[in-house]
Amino acid sequence: MPETKTLGSLSRRGFLKGTAAAAAGLAVSGLALPQAVQAATGQELCTLLDLSRCIGCEACVDGCRDAWQATVPDPVANIPQPFPERVPIEDWSRRKDVQDRLTPYNFLYVEHLEVPHKGQEQELHIPRRCMHCVNAPCTNLCPFGACQTESNGVTHIDQDVCLGGAKCKTVCPWHIPQRQSGVGIYLNLMPQMAGNGVMFKCHRCLPLLEKGQQPRCIEVCPQKVQSIGPRDGQLKKAEALARQMAVKDGAPEDKWGDYVYGLKENGGTGTIYVAPMPFSEINAAIMKDHQEKAKEERAAAAQAGLKPEQAGLLGNLGRPPMGRVANSMENAEKLTLALMIAPVAGLAAGLGKFLAKVGKLTQKPVAPASKQEGGRS
Ligand code: SF4
Ligand code: SF4
Ligand code: SF4
Repeated sequence: MPETKTLGSLSRRGFLKGTAAAAAGLAVSGLALPQAVQAATGQELCTLLDLSRCIGCEACVDGCRDAWQATVPDPVANIPQPFPERVPIEDWSRRKDVQDRLTPYNFLYVEHLEVPHKGQEQELHIPRRCMHCVNAPCTNLCPFGACQTESNGVTHIDQDVCLGGAKCKTVCPWHIPQRQSGVGIYLNLMPQMAGNGVMFKCHRCLPLLEKGQQPRCIEVCPQKVQSIGPRDGQLKKAEALARQMAVKDGAPEDKWGDYVYGLKENGGTGTIYVAPMPFSEINAAIMKDHQEKAKEERAAAAQAGLKPEQAGLLGNLGRPPMGRVANSMENAEKLTLALMIAPVAGLAAGLGKFLAKVGKLTQKPVAPASKQEGGRS
């Protein structure tokens, strides 16, 4: 059984405890992993997605939701307002049906696109979830060690340890983990002062993998879009496929790197996409689509007479783009320092504002009672 690279057995137990019931239910129906993958227990695994095969049916999304949504708890009735007040409460528990983006209750979504390519609009569907980075900043920079990377390459978040501070989301180049407020250990600590819930994301069906079974989204796909196997072999397959795609698209074979995503991103990931057109064009289509959807959402809110802060606008939350991503851990020292400084700087700024406000209040003449009505207490 693979060991974690960070907290070890304590955190592993927490994660496995949280998902054990669901995994037991799935074990009966789960397809076995290919022999090569079984033999690779403890080896770094990698998934390869051939986007030319995806028809956008979302069976993978449904399979993931059926398997894991019930493992994400419902929040307490009165979610504590974090301090300072500008820190938002994020409650997705009444929007569990949302599946057009990543949410705490939706670890996988499919981006449906029309990509302009060679003078035509080409349909493309892209399943999106955690990339399971090789040197994952979420694991390296989580201040509480709640985010972990197994030796089989799976990154996951321990629900029993996470305080929902969202550092993993901040440092993730794709901002993958999503927060559910009002759940988790912070409720037993200082709910208004420390923490804001728990972060959730794809854990690559770790409890199933450890039983020698396929991740659910791979098992249920009718098109066999994804495959999973030892990383070295998957990288070779990805390169061979990308070379074919480049040639088929009329590009020089040595441009195959344009047709692959995840190989070098963030220093290398455990999720490699290969597509029939260059990813620069795909990302341009994603950005355009996201802008248009956000614009439509704002227009609908305005038409309903709602101000943006009342409308609960989602924008592009939980919809990662696919631009080229440099290795964020190359600048880990700077990043760590920035993350350490940010809360202190924020606290200092907040304290400064607080003292200034107190100073003003103590100097201010008391207004007549009628003028105080409706003011903030
Ligand atoms: S990956 Fe498979 S299951 Fe998911 S949308 Fe594509 S074809 Fe459907
Ligand atoms: S994609 Fe983001 S959340 Fe997933 S392993 Fe990489 S840094 Fe962590
Ligand atoms: S690997 Fe498992 S947890 Fe991750 S998206 Fe697929 S079904 Fe969901």
